[in-house]
Amino acid sequence: MNAPAVEAIRRESLRIAGEKVHRDRVIEVTYPFTGEVIATVPKATIDDVRRALRIAREFKSSLTRHDRYRILMRAGELVAQRKDEISRTITLESGLSRKDSLYEVGRASDVLLFAANQALVDDGQIFSCDLTPHGKSRKVYTLKEPLLGAIVAITPFNHPLNQVIHKVAPAVATNNRIVLKPSEKTPLAALILADILYEAGLPPEMLSVVTGDPAEIADELLTSDDVDLVTFTGGVAIGKHIAARAVYKRQILELGGNDPLIVMEDADIEEAATLAAAGSYKNSGQRCTAVKRMLVHESVADQFTELLLEKTLALKYGDPMDESMDMGTVIDEAAAKHFEAVVNEAIAQGARLLAGNVRVGALYSPTVLDRVDPDMRVVRQETFGPVSPIIRFGSIDEAIRISNGTAYGLSSAVCTNRLDYITRFVRELHVGTVNVREVPGYRLEMTPFGGIKDSGLGYKEGVLEAMKSFCNTKTYSLPW
Ligand code: NAD
Repeated sequence: MNAPAVEAIRRESLRIAGEKVHRDRVIEVTYPFTGEVIATVPKATIDDVRRALRIAREFKSSLTRHDRYRILMRAGELVAQRKDEISRTITLESGLSRKDSLYEVGRASDVLLFAANQALVDDGQIFSCDLTPHGKSRKVYTLKEPLLGAIVAITPFNHPLNQVIHKVAPAVATNNRIVLKPSEKTPLAALILADILYEAGLPPEMLSVVTGDPAEIADELLTSDDVDLVTFTGGVAIGKHIAARAVYKRQILELGGNDPLIVMEDADIEEAATLAAAGSYKNSGQRCTAVKRMLVHESVADQFTELLLEKTLALKYGDPMDESMDMGTVIDEAAAKHFEAVVNEAIAQGARLLAGNVRVGALYSPTVLDRVDPDMRVVRQETFGPVSPIIRFGSIDEAIRISNGTAYGLSSAVCTNRLDYITRFVRELHVGTVNVREVPGYRLEMTPFGGIKDSGLGYKEGVLEAMKSFCNTKTYSLPW
């Protein structure tokens, strides 16, 4: 039906401390739009993983703050120069539209810029000790040190570059050594990023990338004595598995979300519908902070639904390489079939399909479902695709109860100008973020980000928070 996506299959290698290592056993990376194999990556062996971790533990970086700043800034320039190529690679491995993959590359440059600048900042503290009658005329100072052992980073498919860079850039900024295992579905952007960082001057011992079958290599990554910290972004099931396996290691778990957009009766409904469509369909709905439930006050629900429908039908979706498309495919056909099944189940239970639920392979159309009940699976669980389920409510108490009624607690959006409502939402929603009149995913790459309940342990990501987690704080005291 379409011209082949690539002329030749790219045969990729591991990056063990910069060394390109090939293996005969490989994983095929496919272009979700056509199902073609576009690349292969090696299946790392346990010995490959052990070697990468040992190098990481043994290497002691002597990079100054200025060195780290320059490496990260240079990497940012290289990412910007190769923007088009990286965006195409992301589109090929994930099926995300070119609009989405170009945005992804732009965000990566922001992360590098912030991490570079933060590398220059010494956040040490000084405590005078003569503050109480028991005190002395001494001072206690704090010092942030990189971890003794390696950092292991495990990342999901949905932002092939950003989830990776949110772990790698803070690790570089803090002089740590990191071993990355990207998603086996989307490993290519991570390999490009590693090459860019080596080219920018990063000592290769500070970053290795191992690709492979998690069933074979994950346990070594989680349990090796060479590892001090595991930072994971992905689904709840694997997150909880990691929590149980990576015993006595620092753990940062950024897991799934089921974020609501709550529309109160005083809201600007045009604005709310615009935010709803953007929040639901960007990145093919595959964002941890995508709008996954729309809670709309019953007095404005008809108007909201009509506007959302209009915006949904105006969205262009299809061939991800066609730059006019707003939305490409989802990650694979199995995921698309899953969305079809949960939407069909909701329809059978009384929800009304207003648009979409059309599937061709991994292409799944933007879908609007009205009259959804909070107990239906489509909104109880995380539906990680372009589905807009609308739930009607009658009061703010009901909205808060429904919003807090799932296992997740990542982010949220509220559309209202009333300060009494805003105050209640900020205080009473069990989430990591409340965005007023913005999508749940809105943030700066530097601001604290992360969820509670099944969405995470409450430790945050974002460049600043990640840098804090990646350090040990040492105190020392001096007599003056
Ligand atoms: P996933 O949990 O299936 O996979 C994530 C990673 O875990 C992959 O690299 C995978 O290879 C690895 N993995 C698989 N088995 C493992 C094991 N036994 N031990 C260790 N690692 C193992 O997630 P996914 O489908 O790639 O991504 C989608 C999920 O990620 C969604 O739930 C989404 O909400 C979540 N997510 C969360 C955030 C956040 O910041 N909270 C951001 C993006 C995505």
